[in-house]
Amino acid sequence: MGSAFNLGKIFGIQFRLHYTWFVIFVLITVSLSWQYFPLAYPDWNNSTYWVSGIFTSLLFFTSVVAHELAHSLVGRANGIPVKSITLFIFGGVAHMTREAAHHGAELKMAAAGPISSLVIGGLFFLLHLLLRGISEPIAAMAFWLAQINVVLAVFNLIPGFPLDGGRVFRSLLWRFSGDYTRSTRIATRVGRGVGYLFILGGISIIFLFPGQWFGGLWLAFIGWFLSRTASASYRQAQWQGALQGVTASELMTSDCPVVPSDVTINRLVQEYIFTSGRQCFLVTDEGELKGILTLGDIKSVARSNWEVTQVNSIMTPVEKLKMAYPDQDALSMLEQMDENNINQMPVVSEGRAVGLITRDNLIRFLRTRS
Ligand SMILES: [Zn+2]
Repeated sequence: MGSAFNLGKIFGIQFRLHYTWFVIFVLITVSLSWQYFPLAYPDWNNSTYWVSGIFTSLLFFTSVVAHELAHSLVGRANGIPVKSITLFIFGGVAHMTREAAHHGAELKMAAAGPISSLVIGGLFFLLHLLLRGISEPIAAMAFWLAQINVVLAVFNLIPGFPLDGGRVFRSLLWRFSGDYTRSTRIATRVGRGVGYLFILGGISIIFLFPGQWFGGLWLAFIGWFLSRTASASYRQAQWQGALQGVTASELMTSDCPVVPSDVTINRLVQEYIFTSGRQCFLVTDEGELKGILTLGDIKSVARSNWEVTQVNSIMTPVEKLKMAYPDQDALSMLEQMDENNINQMPVVSEGRAVGLITRDNLIRFLRTRS
């Protein structure tokens, strides 16, 4: 997810605000200040409507943050590290660096969000009861927040992946079948089904109740997002299943041409590329890895300079490389590549480069597996 602002860290977890969040923030604030509060409490003045609307909206998003934080902290306590939480148009999403390794951890992490929303809803309802006779606007805000948090919990408990309920559902299937990929397939199928139902429901609302067209459109929009995310989650799970237990040494290219760092590009092209046809090279001096070089690096140098440019001035130096180890599993390598936005990693054993793993290696392997 691009175009998000960093808000800072809570408990070591980076909080980010996606630009689409402003759309939903404005929508909720306006509908509260313009519609909900004026209809329910006609005798307030105009500024009370707006101040209450803005504060209620902010507290709603604070509740969403608390929901995501509950997922993240319970996840972290169960061995699922969460790097960041992003607020966007459909709520919040926690970015895990890896999926749960055990169904118990997944169940606890998934359930933590809706449970926290129910607790927060209960607390707001209590506040509503306490302040009813003291301040009508604050009691009204608390009442709306109590309702919306319960709605948030119930909505998230719908058993379609990637909703929390879908994760709970998958963890239970996983527990009883022992088959992670199959459980994911079923849970993501249900998730897609839920998404389609939402789209259908949204379109029906638009036709049957034209006055509610916006609500219908919104429901259809959420349905579209859910079905899309469910499909993507299933693909990801398939990859994970296929890459599990496969190591770098099985997938790497081990006959990578080795070139010394002081070779000129001209000589490299003449003596190595034309004869071997390879696209990637390990640059080593006396067996010690100095860097790697790809055809892309060569293309960045004007042909007229090939005679005078040495490999070491255009290679990716070893300090900037991420290394893989021969027994590292393929899934963690793919994650490492995605995280650092790189396409290849040298495989290093006892300080010596023994091969090269490229994104192509991984993708070709995935194709043959599926
Ligand atoms: Zn959740």
